[in-house]
Amino acid sequence: MTDPLRDMRPREEQRQAVASDNRPRRTVSFYRYVRIDDPAAFRLRLLKKWGELECLGRIYVANEGINAQMNVPVENWAEFDAWVQAQPELTGVPYKIAVEEGPSSSFYKLTIKVRDKVVADGLDDSTFDVTNTGEYLTAAEMNAYVDDPEAIIIDMRNAYESEIGHFEKAIKPDVDTFREELQVVPELLKIHKDKKVALYCTGGIRCEKASAWMKHMGFKNVKHLKGGVIDYKHQVEREGLPNKFKGKNFVFDERLGERIGDEVISYCHLCHKNKSDEHHHCKNQICHKLFLGCEECLEKKNGYCSYTCQAVDTLPTRVKKIIARYYNKLKRGSQFKKARLKSV
Ligand SMILES: [Zn+2]
Ligand SMILES: [Zn+2]
Repeated sequence: MTDPLRDMRPREEQRQAVASDNRPRRTVSFYRYVRIDDPAAFRLRLLKKWGELECLGRIYVANEGINAQMNVPVENWAEFDAWVQAQPELTGVPYKIAVEEGPSSSFYKLTIKVRDKVVADGLDDSTFDVTNTGEYLTAAEMNAYVDDPEAIIIDMRNAYESEIGHFEKAIKPDVDTFREELQVVPELLKIHKDKKVALYCTGGIRCEKASAWMKHMGFKNVKHLKGGVIDYKHQVEREGLPNKFKGKNFVFDERLGERIGDEVISYCHLCHKNKSDEHHHCKNQICHKLFLGCEECLEKKNGYCSYTCQAVDTLPTRVKKIIARYYNKLKRGSQFKKARLKSV
């Protein structure tokens, strides 16, 4: 195993190393808002132990807490769990285990970053009480909200996430970032401040901050789905509840989605005709746009998002380097950027 502190291998090499490792891995996510005085030291502690245990993933640490999306070889799970629970910052932290488990890895390396915040929300936390979060909703309670004509359900995720899957009757703001979502939602709902409002997101972390923010903005009855869509699926299966989430839950690892409902609810971005909820990155590295593509279009455009990208990719590297500077400016307006995916 390469030392994660010194892992400078190119991405393709990392990918191949992981692909040749057939051990089953458990994909897990967890978060906690907890005071961490020295995030850099905390990062090193995690990196050392999780490197030893051959974990892979993307983890953010900040003074305000931790947000982790990662996977762990199943054979190392018990040791991982015992170690995590023994850390004072993490004792009792609830895990959200991915719905789909398999030998293929959902990450290609272990990255732990120190950030100002564990989720980029654009809020000034000194201006409101971040601990005044909304009450939690269980899956059964969420279903009751879906059936209640008086209740409002808000998808707190970005447009590219809600496009492929969402709760029945949810309001899905057309936004590219969580930062934008927090500005748009209170404005959109301002005449409903007395109504029952339920928020949800992928794994629950965004709603912790969002529910406190909504309460600060004058909403009197804000609750949020505990553990997000990931945990909703587990509860629905465990308790034999009807599933009211249609389609796929977008996840921030190499899988890009977990199927929750059986139906495909979105369309291919290239032909707008065939149904598709499979995200792909454009093969042209200087574009790298994330798009929904049907099999027909993927074959026709050879994995590129457009014929332009296909043509540009045949140019010499020297020319591509020059174009790269302008390319994303030209393509601005596309919300499907890898950079944005990493910011959640
Ligand atoms: Zn298509
Ligand atoms: Zn492209």
